[in-house]
Amino acid sequence: MSATAVELRDLRVELVGRDADVVDEITLRIAPGEVLGLVGESGSGKTTVGMALLGHVRRGGRVGGGAVVIDGRDLALLGDRELRRLRGGTVAYIPQDPGTSLNPALRLRRQLGEVLEAHAGEWGDDERGQRVRQALEEVALPSDDTFLARYPHELSGGQQQRVAIAMAFACRPGVIVCDEPTTGLDVTTQARVLATVRDLCRTHAVAALYVSHDLAVVAELADRVAVMYAGRIVETGTRDQLFRAPRHPYTRRLLRAVPDLEGKRAVVGIPGTAPLPGGRPTGCFFHPRCTLAVDRCVAEFPPATDVGGGQLVRCHRSAEAPRELPVEFGPTEAVGDVAPDLVLAVRGLDAHHGASHTLHGIELEVHRHECLALVGESGSGKTTLARCVAGLHKDFTGEVALRGTPLPPAARKRSDAARKEIQYVFQNPYASLNPRRTVGQTIARQLELFDPGRKEMDRRVGDCLERVALSRSAANRYPDELSGGERQRVAIARALAAEPALMVCDEITSALDVSVQAAIIDLLRELRVQMGLSLLFITHNLALIRTIADRVAVMTQGRIVELGPTATVLAEPSAPYTQQLLANTPTIAA
Ligand code: SF4
Repeated sequence: MSATAVELRDLRVELVGRDADVVDEITLRIAPGEVLGLVGESGSGKTTVGMALLGHVRRGGRVGGGAVVIDGRDLALLGDRELRRLRGGTVAYIPQDPGTSLNPALRLRRQLGEVLEAHAGEWGDDERGQRVRQALEEVALPSDDTFLARYPHELSGGQQQRVAIAMAFACRPGVIVCDEPTTGLDVTTQARVLATVRDLCRTHAVAALYVSHDLAVVAELADRVAVMYAGRIVETGTRDQLFRAPRHPYTRRLLRAVPDLEGKRAVVGIPGTAPLPGGRPTGCFFHPRCTLAVDRCVAEFPPATDVGGGQLVRCHRSAEAPRELPVEFGPTEAVGDVAPDLVLAVRGLDAHHGASHTLHGIELEVHRHECLALVGESGSGKTTLARCVAGLHKDFTGEVALRGTPLPPAARKRSDAARKEIQYVFQNPYASLNPRRTVGQTIARQLELFDPGRKEMDRRVGDCLERVALSRSAANRYPDELSGGERQRVAIARALAAEPALMVCDEITSALDVSVQAAIIDLLRELRVQMGLSLLFITHNLALIRTIADRVAVMTQGRIVELGPTATVLAEPSAPYTQQLLANTPTIAA
């Protein structure tokens, strides 16, 4: 058996001055060369565990018990100097945003050289220079002098992330902590980054903790997986155990929420939200959301039990669950027939950003009740196209027509009626709501378009909130009192308040957990049925379009390279670019 590079023994991190833990009873081992995926919804404590491996605790927290042992050394017993040497040397970190690990003022040669100087100070210049080049080659980047003379801002996002990986692996660490390093990258770059991380871990026997909320990514990369819920590990097992025979009800629900590229399963969200530190219930923390809960679940916290083959599950009912419960729940339901009436037509559209020609000859149509997905990598032009449709980008030629009537390019030149009919929901629910307005005030501003009386206004605000499955009392709350999913519901409610014919959804679920994403997708499906709403749905997530879109337009370099029914495009892609996108899309299918 291989030696253990990392061991967490019953780790507890608690909030200073409060009788509340952030995480507790965390016991994990990672062997050299092994990748352990750590998954869970936002706030489950997975980043806290990742930070603990670096000997870090966030402000306001402290280690309240247990131990983090790396290469036989308990981090709690190390002094500041030893800890600094450990970070970047024995334990390296790859952040979500490479911008946080790269110094914008340093050329790549210095950037990488300084890491080696700090952690391999005894090396000579030649040795260091060679290792810098080798580190870049290992992540498939050029290592010539021209490239080494570049600054971080002269690189693409994917290249920056690969430089961050090169820096992390340059000192040959024993342990590496990856915190969602591919979030924000398109699928092709993501596939390359994941393959690089996996190869480097194997080649150099590095133990990796891969923190992610993306189960499909973890299924591609990890050897073993630990699932966290409300500060506890609720299930641990090999990749096959977790994805083929999950035993904890939470793991199963999480998997049901992941969109499936093959469309074999319906996507179902998890109702309710995970409890925060200090607000956790008695007994099993999952019991308020668990459909299998019994009296014992409310009274007793379940111990971790080995259900066979080393698969550990914290559930009182783990022994009763069928061993091979399939995570299949019938095919994705069709929303209904697409009505023939044309809502949006884009003809011969060419767009520019200053001197650069960003969209070329775009032709597309969206019918009543239809969802057309626009997919493509970052920079493919999908957001520019959506902004032209909404009148937010006016530097274009060609035609955008609503119900057969051509619209002026700029939104402010469009009639009030036309502006109401096309509503835009933005990617980031944190930035798109005014923090100084209550939810009710935000929605009421949209309703002012209809000039209702005061009483009627309150009633309509309440109706809009109920339509997106929020309670009427949410009208009195401010955005910072809401979760990410709730904020995105408010953004959708605000758009719906205008009674639009077409809603443009720009990556609206990409910042959300899969469970929340599934609930939002459910909601959009219902709204299409109830209101005959049409959607232009922009995403880089191909699996997601299977669950929501009737047709899909695939974009690259400002052109639509393939357009057709979703099932056909996904099953028999004709454009080489679509084929490549599909091949690079991570999937949890075994
Ligand atoms: Fe559900 Fe009870 Fe198991 Fe918790 S212990 S996951 S509430 S069945």
